[in-house]
Amino acid sequence: MNQMRILITGGGIAGSFAALLLGRDGHEVHVIEKRVLNPENITAQGRTGNFTLSERGRQSLKFAGLLDKVMEYALPLRGRLVHLPYSPFALPSPYGALQEDCLHSISRTHLHMILLEEASATPGVTYHFGHELADVDPFKKEARITSPEGEWSMNYDLFIGSDGVHSVTRGMLVERGLVKVDFLPSEWCYAEESSEQSVSLEQREYLHVWPQSDGVVCGLPMLDGTLRLNYLFRKGTWPIRQFAQVHRITRLKVDPWFVGDATVLIGDAAHSMSPFLGQGMNMALEDAAVLVLKIRQAGRVGAEVLKEFQDARQKIANALIELSEEHSVTLARKLRNPVFIAKQHLHAAARRRFPAFFDVTAYNAWTRGSLAN
Ligand SMILES: Cc1cc2nc3c(=O)[nH]c(=O)nc-3n(C[C@H](O)[C@H](O)[C@H](O)COP(=O)(O)OP(=O)(O)OC[C@H]3O[C@@H](n4cnc5c(N)ncnc54)[C@H](O)[C@@H]3O)c2cc1C
Repeated sequence: MNQMRILITGGGIAGSFAALLLGRDGHEVHVIEKRVLNPENITAQGRTGNFTLSERGRQSLKFAGLLDKVMEYALPLRGRLVHLPYSPFALPSPYGALQEDCLHSISRTHLHMILLEEASATPGVTYHFGHELADVDPFKKEARITSPEGEWSMNYDLFIGSDGVHSVTRGMLVERGLVKVDFLPSEWCYAEESSEQSVSLEQREYLHVWPQSDGVVCGLPMLDGTLRLNYLFRKGTWPIRQFAQVHRITRLKVDPWFVGDATVLIGDAAHSMSPFLGQGMNMALEDAAVLVLKIRQAGRVGAEVLKEFQDARQKIANALIELSEEHSVTLARKLRNPVFIAKQHLHAAARRRFPAFFDVTAYNAWTRGSLAN
């Protein structure tokens, strides 16, 4: 394959992962990142502190040979531990029947730093911190970039917009009438904080859930034994207490994901979903892996390759956007019912015993990913 000049906006999860994969393929990769990223500020700006990494994300990291490295910082989660107001005991609720049905808890800082360090160490990859996209012309394949030192421009063979949920790249393509965004309603807000108390070793193997009917608190175990708490609640409802920062959940679908033969959106820039299924970051990793795979298979980039990428990803992303929102009902309401939890255990036991007769749960099916197929 000929060496390409690639411009990536946003050195977050999707952008850094794409940069390291494309750099390894011998391309010249420039990453424009508006922040100056280092371990101290990676979690700043109200970014979520911990992720659940599912099979989808694990497959993507394996594709890049990074799974073992990431797993050093990850904690396996065998299921949820549901805390109910009327029960003295927390009730375990399984994700599925099999070993691979587990999720992992990983901090954004660790995951992002690994991707950033790997990408920065890859020959051909250059990060431009404190730089922002000023304009992009997908037909001339030219981008203008602003930096504290002034403005510069660059011609590209491939442009990847991975600048997150409030993507400036996407905004520029929308302004030119080349891309449409469908902002979907969401009544949900979230706030985060770290708990001071540490949980027992056994309890570190679970995602802790406090269903609240109008919301849910999720506690993800951290390596130091404390929980990172996510408060997800309907706007205007519980909780009464004050948080330093409350964020709205943004849900959006984008169409198309690419323009011309060299400009494409991935990650939250292309699809943003509520966090109830924990799939946004996993999808961001998989988007980058699938895009690189399609380019490798074709031996080049072009409109057909980008269309193939979009066809492979857009339906899954759009379905997850709906399913994630629906899953709020399971977390906030259904898990309050011990009979629902008992049924989950029965299903898991039946599937372990007769795997041919009992399907994976919808939850597992949607967190599994497509790279292994
Ligand atoms: C409360 C909550 C909990 C979540 N939990 C999970 C979970 O458990 N599992 C999961 O899979 N997902 C989860 N997510 C979703 C996940 O956070 C996102 O899907 C993921 O971060 C998307 O990655 P990305 O690379 O597309 O964007 P980001 O990680 O947001 O990266 C975008 C990058 O672009 C940079 N940037 C922005 N604008 C510009 C610009 N103009 N120029 C240059 N650079 C720019 C930003 O600084 C950033 O570095 C959660 C989300 C929320 C809100």
